Amino acid sequence: MPDAEIIAVGSELLTPQRLDTNSLYLTDQLNALGVEVVRKTVVGDERERLTDSILGAAARSKIVVLTGGLGPTEDDLTREAVAGALGRSLVFHQDICDGIEARLRFFGRKMAEINRRQAYVIEGAEVLPNARGTAPGQWILNDGVAFVLLPGPPMELKPMFEQQCLPRLEKLLPPQVIRTRWLRVVGMGESDLDQLISPVYKRYANLVTTILAVSGEIHVHLRARCALAHEAETLVAQASAEIEPLLGDRVYSCNGDSLEQVIADLLRARGASLSVAESATGGLLGGRITAVPSASDYFRGGFVTYSDQMKIRLLGVPAELIAEHTAVSEPVAKAMAEGARAGTGSDYALSITGYAGPEGEKVGLVFIGLAAPDGSEVRRVQWPADRDRVRAFSTNIALDMLRRRLLDLKP
Ligand code: AMP
Ligand code: MG
Repeated sequence: MPDAEIIAVGSELLTPQRLDTNSLYLTDQLNALGVEVVRKTVVGDERERLTDSILGAAARSKIVVLTGGLGPTEDDLTREAVAGALGRSLVFHQDICDGIEARLRFFGRKMAEINRRQAYVIEGAEVLPNARGTAPGQWILNDGVAFVLLPGPPMELKPMFEQQCLPRLEKLLPPQVIRTRWLRVVGMGESDLDQLISPVYKRYANLVTTILAVSGEIHVHLRARCALAHEAETLVAQASAEIEPLLGDRVYSCNGDSLEQVIADLLRARGASLSVAESATGGLLGGRITAVPSASDYFRGGFVTYSDQMKIRLLGVPAELIAEHTAVSEPVAKAMAEGARAGTGSDYALSITGYAGPEGEKVGLVFIGLAAPDGSEVRRVQWPADRDRVRAFSTNIALDMLRRRLLDLKP
């Protein structure tokens, strides 16, 4: 299966103001075809560097997708650079020029002389008409390498890729299907997880395994590409049947569902309700829970009790408890959860109190409480992380504590 490279052309993409997003879209599309993107380049509007990138990509990969640099101005060099790199000439197409003129006239504008530049096509290339803009794309096969030239604006590039490039790529590629499985894991670090499962996935030559750390969770993506559907299905099923037992109940979903979605399904199935009491996370936990549609089926509400006074007044945390143990302590986390549960009448309640940092001796120390019909529990965690991550990780632990309790798993 051929590999691909993407070259994003444009000096603005090398500034902090503008991000190359086209390559993310293109990678997704190419992966769906079973094509791996093995290298991406962002290169400014400069002829020599662009030529250098094109020659390098062509020497390494069978598919080279270029985006941008097809505009009418002097700094739009992609056509010239590809033609030069391939030793081909540029041919003027009167019909493209007429089309551009007609399009501009339709919008009440007169064609400028520089727009003629967009009517030049690399000798031997197929023209990819652009329904959304003036710059047509180009498709050319040269020495077994497919070059695809696409306009920079995403709204022009996307329909052009889907309608005109996908069918051409499919013809070029051997028949194949892709099957994937997402395992989402909470409660373990990336390197521990990799150590555990890498002996398994390394044995599967045709399986692409990606391990992704996403705000305190790990996502394991298994992808098989095979000529036949049942081959790919078998491969993914076999690999996950070996990997899942190693991760055990730390896997919280196998279909891409988020932790808050899993909690939603569990609570709904039990007809149970939930409330939260948050200090350090200031509403993040409630935010995640209510990001799931119809959360009102099970979510009663939450308290953002940042000060001691609010913990005492709204949650009924005894003032002496705070005086004795401080607000960031196991007894206070427990009292917060129990106070939220009593105050809302919910079946379950979660609480978070901690030092999110970045300053202080106890930075990253968080207590997370769960109050439930069968008793309360508190977990103490501490991360050497920054404020954003301490807050995000805390919501993961809270949701996972609830998941484990609802499934009768060991804390
Ligand atoms: P160009 O085809 O180089 O004239 O690009 C026109 C416009 O498309 C630029 O000003 C950007 O706004 C946008 N653009 C170009 N390349 C990209 C890219 N790789 N990702 C996202 N937007 C892009
Ligand atoms: Mg540009």
